[in-house]
Amino acid sequence: MFLTTTVGSLPKPAWLAEPEKLWAAWRLDAAQLQDGKQRAALEWLREQERAGIDIVGDGEQFRIHFVHGFLETLEGIDWNLKTPMGIRNNRYIAEVPTVTAPLKRRAAVHVADATFMRSQTTRALKVTLPGPMTICDTLADSHYGRRADMALRFAEMLNEEARELEAAGADVIQFDEPAFNVFLDEVGDWGIAALERAMQGLKATTIVHICYGYGIEANVKWKSSLGDTWRQYESIFPWINASSVQQVSLEFAGSRIPPDLMRLLPDKTLLVGAVEVLPDKLESAEEVAANIRAAAKHVDSDRLIACTNCGMAPLSAELARGKLHALGRGAVLARRR
Ligand code: ZN
Repeated sequence: MFLTTTVGSLPKPAWLAEPEKLWAAWRLDAAQLQDGKQRAALEWLREQERAGIDIVGDGEQFRIHFVHGFLETLEGIDWNLKTPMGIRNNRYIAEVPTVTAPLKRRAAVHVADATFMRSQTTRALKVTLPGPMTICDTLADSHYGRRADMALRFAEMLNEEARELEAAGADVIQFDEPAFNVFLDEVGDWGIAALERAMQGLKATTIVHICYGYGIEANVKWKSSLGDTWRQYESIFPWINASSVQQVSLEFAGSRIPPDLMRLLPDKTLLVGAVEVLPDKLESAEEVAANIRAAAKHVDSDRLIACTNCGMAPLSAELARGKLHALGRGAVLARRR
């Protein structure tokens, strides 16, 4: 009861990349980079184990960004052609690379890294991938013309990658779809279909992560504009519940999401955010336990996994460590009742 996991990303050590910054460039040269990524991933793996996290991952130490990590080695993307784009419906502007030709995945992207992680732990191993809709909202297109078409192409490549990750020993594969919480109509129109294509034929446990974003200023500002109750999940959860995804990772702690919206996912296991990802808050284990118990009023305990609200990449390493341990200890407290 009340297993624990994180959404995925964790801060990078300062010797690997500039801390508390998204899209920070690597600080090691090519010859040392792979060793450095492995060392950082291993440090976070041991920290997760010490903290009592049940389903562990690499903290996304092998990729610069949760979306662009998957894109770097694909064909069809011009990384020199940077297009300014209003990401997540203009919540923030980023200079993103541009798709200029048919997309091809010639080689595995994260599979060698997953193989390495598998060799280092006996715990359940989770690997994260960006979802097709979120990729299309983090990358400019001058080739496909329709987002739905480009998303489907990405879904095919994500499926190839996910099957190879599964063969490499990943127990859990998570697709990050924060864009689902923004483009509510498109979720039903083509978002779910693209997600289904990405998950097709997988035997590993599948998760879709849908949140209100990292704890960065642009997102905090956006959330404050959403009113007293955040009902985005209400529109999309019925679609998600009818889909074949097995688990849903959602934001909960410190949010204005009505908790009873979790009842719209009666057929799924829920990864409930029991820890916030703001840069200035460290929860106590008791607070985490209280969040888990509050969620358990709306979700059967055997369908509830305690998680973070979102990735912790932009936080300080010290704070992220504290949150991992609060999560592990909070779940222990929540199980006692
Ligand atoms: Zn998130």
